[in-house]
Amino acid sequence: MSACDNNDCIRTSSDIERIDTDAFYRDSITKGFVKVEDIARNIEWVTPTVWGDIQVTINLSKPEKDPAAIAAAAKQKDPDKLCDLCVTQGDIDSGYAKNIQLCDEPWALWYSPYAYFNEHCIAMSWEHRPMHIDRAAFVGLCDFVDQFPQYFIGSNADLPIVGGSILSHDHFQGGRHTFPLHKAPIDRTFTMSAFPHVNAGVVKWPLTVLRLETTDREALIDSACHILDAWRAYTNEELGIIAVTYEGKQAIRHNTITPMLRKKDATYTLDLALRCNITSEKHPLGAFHVHDHLHHIKKENIGLIEVMGRAILPPRLTREMAVDDASVRTEIGERFAEALCCCGVFAWDGEGQAALDVFLGTFASR
Ligand SMILES: [Zn+2]
Ligand SMILES: [Zn+2]
Repeated sequence: MSACDNNDCIRTSSDIERIDTDAFYRDSITKGFVKVEDIARNIEWVTPTVWGDIQVTINLSKPEKDPAAIAAAAKQKDPDKLCDLCVTQGDIDSGYAKNIQLCDEPWALWYSPYAYFNEHCIAMSWEHRPMHIDRAAFVGLCDFVDQFPQYFIGSNADLPIVGGSILSHDHFQGGRHTFPLHKAPIDRTFTMSAFPHVNAGVVKWPLTVLRLETTDREALIDSACHILDAWRAYTNEELGIIAVTYEGKQAIRHNTITPMLRKKDATYTLDLALRCNITSEKHPLGAFHVHDHLHHIKKENIGLIEVMGRAILPPRLTREMAVDDASVRTEIGERFAEALCCCGVFAWDGEGQAALDVFLGTFASR
């Protein structure tokens, strides 16, 4: 199905009740929902690279997973909750979550207990249903920044390998934080004849990111769908990008997008990271996943937060490397930037960027 098939969702969100996020966040801390003392244990630094100042964090706030504790927690699980992102009326009553509306639907918002950055919030549909990158997702992201322009918002991709850890429940992540990607400049612009009022460019960034900027909300959503449709159909065997494979008669699609949206005054800035989750004999974990030689730093999926240039590294690094040492920190930051390059579908070499220009040309004039 084309991302543009469903037009029902287009609307403005002026009729929605406003939430005071300052008060909600303060409350979430006071009530102990956001674990500020645990979060303070995280190690954090910045490493200058050719891609800008990469942010590195080692996540020490979450308790190490004890299998017995996990099993016990699973037993006590609320039967209404199919997964950790399911909202219950109890969450609303306790003040843990607040009701919001995105895409004309009931969603909820809460702050991540173990935040990866300031005011890290998660918005989720009340309905337990899979993640989906399509028109409705772009509309939902726009609805979010229309209500909460103080926050960025983004969605993980909707496929394994390139998505986040939870694909089974529709959700976005946002917050009050400036990421390295937000500061990354445009390498070159391109035009789309169908969208003369959308400024489009290729971002100078290790992953392949297209940036759309406009005050026209509908044109933003339409142009994002236009790019998503083109990308979903794009195959380039020389570069190892394969849009679709078949298991028997069933088509398995591999191309998708990690979208990230901000709004300043009336201007929307939408960054679209092109992702492909194809695997190959050489790279069985993913051709555009972190490659083997960097697995000592990072082997988990590169999700939304990391796409934006903020590394979330596992606690084991504190045991395996001298992370207090300045040169080790520089090494880790540079290797993480390299890990992001592994995920770039169009490499920053002559062949990759020439192919990207050809790809841009295929949808620019349509
Ligand atoms: Zn759920
Ligand atoms: Zn690599």
